[in-house]
Amino acid sequence: MSRIVVLGAGESGAGAAVLAKKEGFDVFVSDMSKIKDKYKKLMDDHHIEWEEGQHTEDKILNADEIIKSPGIPDTAPMIVKVKEKGIHIISEIEFAGRYTDSKMICITGSNGKTTTTSLIYHIFKEAGYDVGLAGNIGNSLALQVAEDPHAYYVIELSSFQLDNMYDFRANIAILLNITPDHLDRYDFCMQNYVDAKMRIIQNQTPQDAFIFWNDDPIIHNELSKYDIKAILYPFSELKEKGSIGYIEEGEYKIEKPEPFNMEQESLSLTGKHNIYNSLAAGIATNIAGIKKDIIRQSLSDFPGVEHRLEKVCSVRGVQYINDSKATNVDACWYALESMKNKTILIIGGKDKGNDYSPIIPLVKEKCAGIVYLGADNKKLHDNFDNLGIPVRDTHSMKECVEACYEMAEPGMTVLLSPCCASFDLFKNMEDRGEQFKTLVRNL
Ligand code: ADP
Repeated sequence: MSRIVVLGAGESGAGAAVLAKKEGFDVFVSDMSKIKDKYKKLMDDHHIEWEEGQHTEDKILNADEIIKSPGIPDTAPMIVKVKEKGIHIISEIEFAGRYTDSKMICITGSNGKTTTTSLIYHIFKEAGYDVGLAGNIGNSLALQVAEDPHAYYVIELSSFQLDNMYDFRANIAILLNITPDHLDRYDFCMQNYVDAKMRIIQNQTPQDAFIFWNDDPIIHNELSKYDIKAILYPFSELKEKGSIGYIEEGEYKIEKPEPFNMEQESLSLTGKHNIYNSLAAGIATNIAGIKKDIIRQSLSDFPGVEHRLEKVCSVRGVQYINDSKATNVDACWYALESMKNKTILIIGGKDKGNDYSPIIPLVKEKCAGIVYLGADNKKLHDNFDNLGIPVRDTHSMKECVEACYEMAEPGMTVLLSPCCASFDLFKNMEDRGEQFKTLVRNL
């Protein structure tokens, strides 16, 4: 095999191109959009040929293998042509995995990936391990393998990355949960999305570990379909049949491989969902052999991740919380569940085929008001207008924050946890969160 074409020149694509070049391939990179200057420079420094704003067909369809950015859907016209020609398509992580023997700790799930990945990385760092952070979290695995290799990698994997992974082996695989998300990319078929998530355990051996949430009915249903080779480490909030990580009488407990416990109160991350994330992280680092006192200390001093239940500030006795990363209904459910005060919920954006019914009971219980924030709020009106809770319709973050300020009374919380993607009004979820924080701080 000699010619590799990389489609999409973001963090993963540019990194994959550098590794491919280093491994002696003839490399060409093509991106339909404009490429960021830092990636152009990276490719130029490595004498890699690239194009932007177009896909030149005859330079692409002569590839022996294609590395596709996870952001490009299978329905993109060029991908359809590549598939018609029978060219093998892989992800950057799959490609990088071929050129390293380092230990791979891989995290997937519909929600909690970034939090759990960051927490595990934090514990490894505190323990002084040689570790890299990679995947969906924004650092290219391929680039690190090429230029800055580590003994361990903690890798956040989205379903889109898993879609194009075949031989990659996760030494420790973590599956946090599976709830509907991104269905627009999976022909609105839940099973297609579930199949993508389950790819995290493919190629695991009896030396490997599979850590999963024991309370998830979808995961349970899937487990019976696979011949799982790895050692199982199920966790749950309370001690359930088979669980080896759980909370018991205020104690956070892990049974194996090393018995471990600490006070639940000492965990730095709060909310039910973060109990799961902290259990997954504790088990993974326990398996990696990190000393118990370091795990304990790191679980209690982890500073948290921006845009995830991030406290912004209090204004006139109202607490503002930025959970812009809650881009699906399940994430919003957990955010609402953790609210102690009456809440003004900001919801809306680009709908991904959402079913809002799971959050209706919590909205009724916890919300004193709802502010819709989107280019098109019709579906929100249909779902939430008739709950007997005041609602406001807004189409910009400025309007939205003003509406919240008017509606919220001292002692309440304003929660941005939108259930939706941000692309209708914002560049991305970070932009949405930043705009929210800036406007709130200027109130
Ligand atoms: P991801 O990277 O999978 O999108 P994040 O760690 O960024 O996940 O968290 C996104 C949002 O999902 C958070 O704001 C929180 O509301 C919710 N969340 C976090 N962890 C979990 C979990 N284990 N289960 C359900 N929801 C979660």
